[in-house]
Amino acid sequence: MKVMLALCLFAVIFALVFPVAAALGPKSQPPEDPTVATDRPPESPASDGLFYVEERPASPDRDDETTVKLLRDGKIEELSLTDYLIGAMSAEMPATFEPEALKAQAVALRTYYLRKAKLGSSAHPEAQICADSTCCAAFRDEEQLKERWGESFETNFKKISAAVRATDGLYIAYEGQPALAVFHSSSAGRTEDCGEIWNGPVPYLVSVESPESADTVPGYVASVTVSAEEFRETVLEKYPGAVFGEDMSGWVTEPVYSASGRLSHVLIGGVAVQATSLRSMFGLRSTAVKIEVNDGSVTMTTTGYGHGVGMSQYGANTMAQAGADFTEILSHYYPGTTLAGL
Ligand SMILES: [Zn+2]
Repeated sequence: MKVMLALCLFAVIFALVFPVAAALGPKSQPPEDPTVATDRPPESPASDGLFYVEERPASPDRDDETTVKLLRDGKIEELSLTDYLIGAMSAEMPATFEPEALKAQAVALRTYYLRKAKLGSSAHPEAQICADSTCCAAFRDEEQLKERWGESFETNFKKISAAVRATDGLYIAYEGQPALAVFHSSSAGRTEDCGEIWNGPVPYLVSVESPESADTVPGYVASVTVSAEEFRETVLEKYPGAVFGEDMSGWVTEPVYSASGRLSHVLIGGVAVQATSLRSMFGLRSTAVKIEVNDGSVTMTTTGYGHGVGMSQYGANTMAQAGADFTEILSHYYPGTTLAGL
């Protein structure tokens, strides 16, 4: 009896002293509840995990209370962050993707907006963000979406809205600031290190493994073939110093690959050409490219689509299919960052 009493007492004291042990236990609420979904997964180490520490009520209204100034078709529109994110999400990621991948994308886009809003844009100082995908991020309004989605409009719109609402106000932070949350469509086995293609390295935009494959990504491997004459002329237009001899085997030499397996640079006609430059000259889908010089033609075969930096959307979807939640997806693609809330 005394033993039982002692055990009960011990249990009560333990519960009072270590309430945090219960808080780190398995999730007891549905994953769509934002207060739960942002808990640090128990298996993630705190050093590189993505977790939310502040107590916050579940009412989704932080995005509603934030006003976005969007430049679209030459005009500035003011809309809530909720509406902006739904429109941008709809243009940037297929609505057929897994809910957790959509949530990861919502957080990435919210982060992208917050960083733009904070730093300002030299391209359009009058607006925080624009609807041009080559400058900021693409955006579609409801009318455009009804036209694009037809009968699936209601279902798709609800699904994307749910991803935005479930992550209300959450963004990816690095050293307390919104991170540079760039993303791309798909990667060739690994994402690219930011320093390989842009102006210098970023601590959380490093090369990580990405699980998508040809089985799940349409057009994962794609080829562009041009005639020898077109190849020569296109290169000469940009690199007039290139010299193309009779023997085509000497046209493309000394390819150098980055650690992620993408082409870094290559000698074309004896001139050093960056892979990013080659990509834009021939409209290639990525810099994960192999160049084959044949008799009379040049074939460039790419894997994946996009610049390869930050989150891979198809990789995120593949992770979600395997059971990862959005916090795990984000901590994988932006290592060393944390989740923060508006
Ligand atoms: Zn812009």
